[in-house]
Amino acid sequence: MLKVAFSPIFLYQVPEKHRFPMQKYRLIPERLIQEGTLSEANFFAPKKLTEAEILTTHTAEYWEKLRTQTLSRKEARAIGSEMTPELVERGRYIAHATYECALYAKQYGISLNVAGGTHHSFADHGEGFCVFNDVCIASNLLLNRGEAHRILIVDLDVHQGNGNASIMADEPRVFVFSMHGEKNYPFRKPPSDLDIELPNDTDDETYLTQLKQTLPQLIVAHKPDLIFYQSAVDVLATDKLGKLSLTPEGCKQRDDFVLRQARDNNIPIAVVMGGGYSEDVEDVVEAHCNTFRLSKQLFFA
Ligand SMILES: [Zn+2]
Repeated sequence: MLKVAFSPIFLYQVPEKHRFPMQKYRLIPERLIQEGTLSEANFFAPKKLTEAEILTTHTAEYWEKLRTQTLSRKEARAIGSEMTPELVERGRYIAHATYECALYAKQYGISLNVAGGTHHSFADHGEGFCVFNDVCIASNLLLNRGEAHRILIVDLDVHQGNGNASIMADEPRVFVFSMHGEKNYPFRKPPSDLDIELPNDTDDETYLTQLKQTLPQLIVAHKPDLIFYQSAVDVLATDKLGKLSLTPEGCKQRDDFVLRQARDNNIPIAVVMGGGYSEDVEDVVEAHCNTFRLSKQLFFA
């Protein structure tokens, strides 16, 4: 059974002109159901992170500021959205969803979160639309509970996962691999276990060659028993923030390669969405939907 995390709380209302296309969280499940890729039965409603779960990864000071809505204006501006209790609640559901996806991945091979991939969140502050770091929280919960022992994060968002790199810097059981635009946010990039920096306008062929030369070796070397895959679609040429030049087909081939690596090596894979900022939200939704379609084809056909 392909299990997909979704909750109405993912559909947070942001101001019309906000750069983050929140409507994708509604449009992706709608389209997948409409076309018959998924049915209602595939979706599950995630639970919410407890305070103790938040504190496995975030500092007590940061959590206290979120809980009491006392982030400074500068701290809130770094996240990029006016801070509200709802936004904090939403983050708690999204991060727990990523953890639940990992458990379902162990059971069924793969599971996807319609949201998640908040890799710019650090232990003590948020940035770039990210309040809590879902993949790092999920990783810490899995490790603490003995549900995973060696985790590989494959972060193919066009922006480097600075939060992941920072949080997991001293955690040898979690290998952070990030392939991203060299000349893009974040401009200070704390080192991941492996960073591949791509020049502006990188095309499908160059991108896929790099990925295919790298990922199989990482799997052999690190021997993960779980993979988190951040399948962001801000690598597309149409992306307003991405600066790379992938086609929708290239983006699909990227997903296909990563998913096959997990499947063929029998490693459970939990997929989170990350960014996507094409002018036309249709490009974003269609590329994300490809990830779900491939997941179904490759794991459940
Ligand atoms: Zn991004």
